[in-house]
Amino acid sequence: MNLAVIGTGYVGLVAGACFAESGNDVICVDVDREKIDRLNRGEVPIFEPGLEELIENNTKHGRLAFTTDVVGAIQSSEVIFIAVGTPQDKDGSADLRYVLEVAETIGRNMNGPKIIVNKSTVPVGTAHQVREKIQGLTTFNFDVVSNPEFLKEGSALEDFMKPDRVVIGADSVEAAEVMRELYAPFVRTENPILVMDVKSAEVTKYASNAFLATKITFMNEIANLCEKVGGDVNQVRRGVGTDSRIGPNFLFPGVGYGGSCFPKDVRALMRIGQEHGAEFEIVTAVDRVNNNQKGRLIGKVLEHFGSPEAIRGKRFALWGLAFKPKTDDMREAPSLTVIEELNRLGATVVAYDPEAMENAKRMFAKTGAALEFAESNYSALDGADGLLIVTEWNEFRRPNFGRMSQLLRNPVIFDGRNLFEPAKMNRLGFRYYSIGRAAVGG
Ligand code: NAD
Repeated sequence: MNLAVIGTGYVGLVAGACFAESGNDVICVDVDREKIDRLNRGEVPIFEPGLEELIENNTKHGRLAFTTDVVGAIQSSEVIFIAVGTPQDKDGSADLRYVLEVAETIGRNMNGPKIIVNKSTVPVGTAHQVREKIQGLTTFNFDVVSNPEFLKEGSALEDFMKPDRVVIGADSVEAAEVMRELYAPFVRTENPILVMDVKSAEVTKYASNAFLATKITFMNEIANLCEKVGGDVNQVRRGVGTDSRIGPNFLFPGVGYGGSCFPKDVRALMRIGQEHGAEFEIVTAVDRVNNNQKGRLIGKVLEHFGSPEAIRGKRFALWGLAFKPKTDDMREAPSLTVIEELNRLGATVVAYDPEAMENAKRMFAKTGAALEFAESNYSALDGADGLLIVTEWNEFRRPNFGRMSQLLRNPVIFDGRNLFEPAKMNRLGFRYYSIGRAAVGG
């Protein structure tokens, strides 16, 4: 099939490459000329395991191309995916500007019947808006399908190629059939393709993300309770997660969720509820609790040093910038709160992240932040008054603790991801703070 994917970000690029891998001819479009130029030079603008090889293989075989020529892409494709960003608007709702802009461009440039697929995460009723926009601009037949994306950054290829399920919201049997055909290569182990009405598909995406955000947040509150009563959240997590009705995933406590999806999708769902007179009390609380959770590590720093004044002039190592491991994405990352708060208290931060440092440099350029970047996780520790850990990269899990104590001026660790065993840290002579477990040592 000839496909166009409009919006070549984390979702569009992965979807485009995976559809090309199953034999389709795919054109990925973006308005960002620099991004397209880089892709055409063989550079991949984001870090996602396995993506570079996939893109190289499919461009080499002529199944995958990158362009800024949106009109050409629309006119040569039977199916057009909209995968542009839907960032948070000022009032918390999803900003549909880019989606509707693309719909208008499609409407103006239709040259035959087409299926337009909404892959961006959008509020209920957006497919309808897209349809209305296009309808006013063309006489050709077309269908608008909702096909929300559930991939996770860091394992996006695996998630796209072997999805737990594919959700397709379609009002026409023919369009649903084309979508089934397109996804058939990815569900050969019989995972379901769920065809439903368009509105239900739109709600499904927000319901999934808000549920996962709630699960994480619930466990974070249990962790806070454990700290107060003297329990160990890790034991509790095992006790809870082995219940097959609950399951073990998304129960790891930490410094709050971040990223380009959960925070904005939770807030968008709150707005959708308000607009339709169905106030969403649970997700409202989730958003509030998560914001507080991002400050938990700073609370521990203050507890350790005794007062805000004691932190002024100090230098802290920070391991991890990305909102989670195996990605370079820093959107709404807890590290941003940690850096801002430490700076506000007059401390300098020396950060290390295996993949996100370029993004961090761009984000903090011209902000005047007291932020330095280290060449390795160890060099970040050199002369630091303490270490904060906010991303659970595998390479941070088994470090050389002897080397760490030698480098740190002060052997204190504030671990926002519970990477180490408190008893061991105590033995090794560290003062060790973690989440939902008693502080030890020192
Ligand atoms: P992104 O910001 O990485 O990419 C969006 C791209 O769209 C950018 O490259 C931008 O330049 C481009 N764009 C904007 N307007 C355009 C236009 N008019 N024409 C062509 N290109 C245009 O965003 P993303 O993370 O890929 O997310 C895209 C959508 O998918 C969002 O709605 C998001 O909520 C959803 N989603 C994201 C993830 C994820 O993990 N990132 C997972 C599932 C769903």
